Amino acid sequence: MQTHYTYKFRLYPKKEAESRLEESLELCRWLYNRLLEEINRARKEDRKITQSDTQGLIVRLKHENPELNEVYSKVLQMVNYQLWSNIRALARLKQKGKKIGKLRFKGKGWFKTLNFNQSGFKLKGKKIDLSKIGEIPIKLHRPIEGKIKGIIVKREKSGKWFANVQVEYKPKPLPSTGNEIGIDVGIKYFLTDSEGRQIENPKFYQKTLERIKVVQHWLSKKKKGSRNRTKQRIKLAKIYEKLVNQRDDFLHKLSHFYIENYDTIVVEELQIQNMARNPCLAQKILDASWGRFFQLLLYKAESAGRVFLKVHPRGTTQKCVSCGKEVQKSLKDRMHVCPYCGFETDRDYNASLNILYAGLGQPFVPLEMKPLRVIPVSSVIEGGSPLR
Ligand SMILES: [Zn+2]
Repeated sequence: MQTHYTYKFRLYPKKEAESRLEESLELCRWLYNRLLEEINRARKEDRKITQSDTQGLIVRLKHENPELNEVYSKVLQMVNYQLWSNIRALARLKQKGKKIGKLRFKGKGWFKTLNFNQSGFKLKGKKIDLSKIGEIPIKLHRPIEGKIKGIIVKREKSGKWFANVQVEYKPKPLPSTGNEIGIDVGIKYFLTDSEGRQIENPKFYQKTLERIKVVQHWLSKKKKGSRNRTKQRIKLAKIYEKLVNQRDDFLHKLSHFYIENYDTIVVEELQIQNMARNPCLAQKILDASWGRFFQLLLYKAESAGRVFLKVHPRGTTQKCVSCGKEVQKSLKDRMHVCPYCGFETDRDYNASLNILYAGLGQPFVPLEMKPLRVIPVSSVIEGGSPLR
């Protein structure tokens, strides 16, 4: 079995390379719009037009506009590919009965990615050589495992450049541990697991969130279209990126711990209505943490030969894990106190055990109350014994 993975590495292009990257993005945008125009015209005239027609058109356009030759040909082909993917996605939505508009022409600065599919790149130590762009220093903060299938160069809103390196590799199964775990994610704690760990909610975001508020306040005071406003906007984008990175670092380490130590990991299906729908972007990034956590568990489980299961959330909170009876509780009841069998414990711990048993298909067994261990986020980030 082959698995795919994308590494994200920061690029540090020198002035010259950066301006070539920017020119390439603009040329790609021009091409995208030009091909879209051609498709629209054909449809207006009731002419059939296909992906290979516009593919062929690129060759003609290159003769008419020699500057297009400054972009690696495969990258141009991928612009056509992207355009048709967008068209197909739109058609699918239409089929589902969704009201959809037309594909729009893309404005300046819209194009953010250069797609080097299969070829046009070479990694040379601490540099990456991109065809028609040149050498760019790259920070490979992790070793690349597997065969590189393509590289997507991307300009983020903050103005930073990244290389998304797509690899294909054969998973290496980890040795069996004989352990299984259920995980309940929540609001009070980031998660509670069936071995009594309660991982605190990442409060270290707080500092970043406060900075976001301050910059947003400044931003609101700057004149629209002014240089200062642009500066503040870039600053804000950088802070958001930092927030995502902090979050992902925490989630990578947490998921890594579970994958290393358990053969089977059971969680419950996330329900959208349970998640806070917050208009604040920073909060949204945090709300997306559970989904991202499950994504990481899934991908890591696949490559380590572990089992990752999602169970239906019905009854996992209310059911007593010791006797199986329903014990109604409201959102503010933090404890599970069973009037039938006397089992008392933290509500999330009760849920995590229910989740585990639902995943394993195990019957209820009488349990004794067990002390829980609250684990701070810093222990997750630093790793080591506190988690064990
Ligand atoms: Zn009970």
